[in-house]
Amino acid sequence: MNALITRLWPRAILHIDMNAFFASVEQRDFPELRGRPVGVTNGEVGTTLITCSYEARAAGVKTGMRVYEARRLCPGLIQRPARPRVYAAISTRIMHALRDVSPDVEVFSVDEAFIDVTHCQRLHGSPEQIAHLARARIHEVSGGLPCSIGVAGTKSTAKIASDMKKPNGLTVIPPWETRERLADVPMRKVCGLGPNIAEFLSSYGARTCGDVARLPLAVLARRYGVTGKYLWLACQGKDTEPVTPDVAPPQSIGHGKVLPPRTAAARVIEIYLRHMCEKVAARLRRYDMQAGQLYVGLRLGAPHHEDIGQLFTLPYASPDGQRLFELAREFLRRRWRGAAVTHVQVTASQLRSASGQLEFFPAADPRAFSRFSAIDRINARYGEFTVAPATLLERSTMPNVIAPAWRPDGHRQHIPD
Ligand SMILES: [Mg+2]
Repeated sequence: MNALITRLWPRAILHIDMNAFFASVEQRDFPELRGRPVGVTNGEVGTTLITCSYEARAAGVKTGMRVYEARRLCPGLIQRPARPRVYAAISTRIMHALRDVSPDVEVFSVDEAFIDVTHCQRLHGSPEQIAHLARARIHEVSGGLPCSIGVAGTKSTAKIASDMKKPNGLTVIPPWETRERLADVPMRKVCGLGPNIAEFLSSYGARTCGDVARLPLAVLARRYGVTGKYLWLACQGKDTEPVTPDVAPPQSIGHGKVLPPRTAAARVIEIYLRHMCEKVAARLRRYDMQAGQLYVGLRLGAPHHEDIGQLFTLPYASPDGQRLFELAREFLRRRWRGAAVTHVQVTASQLRSASGQLEFFPAADPRAFSRFSAIDRINARYGEFTVAPATLLERSTMPNVIAPAWRPDGHRQHIPD
């Protein structure tokens, strides 16, 4: 008996899902909304529900529905404008509090997180006890907002588990029970198993996770490669996706490049700068960001061995590589006296979301709410090559060409006033 209680899970993952998050916050802050059907929209004039309270859901109202449609199902629906700043602040507080439970927190979206608690079992007790601890912390910092928690041996199973009992549910699926417990779960519940793959799998007669598990791996792998293999394992609770603690959104986006030895031709240096400017602009666009500052810098070769650079103020506007390059050329004209250049650097900073809204919440598209967590995940996986200019340099394929004195934020020490 005692042995059972203290049995350590080889991996223990929590998935936390705040229930009807924005609507719950509205009900928390406006007591007159408690127990009532609430639909949250973008501003007063929003026509689509970003989310809705459980009272509205009971009437068949769903997230993503048009307001007029929702009103037909639920005439008493109360429409409330979203308050993104409030939601972001609460989300941040919750995510920080979860780090008290385990440092390995992956912010999956504004209202969802994975926590790897494998290494906390001796400290905090069984995964189920840890889940209670997490919920207590969430209640404490959020003013009692409801959340459901799934506890399992993998991320995909934990996510399925958190969806089983809502609101405020706790579902524990120990690793040794996973296959059995997933057997009758519809395969569509597996995160990443979209309609196309579902249709393909139904052509093999599969409907549940158990059905998928019984198919030969090759059926999925041949058609969908790595994704197929992942889904096949996920349907059995055997996937090995790690919890990826999130990385802060980028403070700056920059690119640098080492030049061939003794490069002193203006035309060549310009080409390098142009290349970096285009890369920076493309990356800003990719992250839907605009910059308020641009740093352009050169590292000079022998005999100078110094960094020169200039900081430009940018209008917050659509990132345009050509426009950035004009500034780089201006810098070159003013500051460069023909010395050999060993390195060029272009870095955009003072970043903000291109939507002009709060960073976490670009206005128009509810799906964009999770954009930052997507960036975080990209960073976590490909960090050095996506946003961080410094690590990009460190990870360059030509590390020996970079002076050992170079420091990630070295250019900041050389920014002229
Ligand atoms: Mg949720």
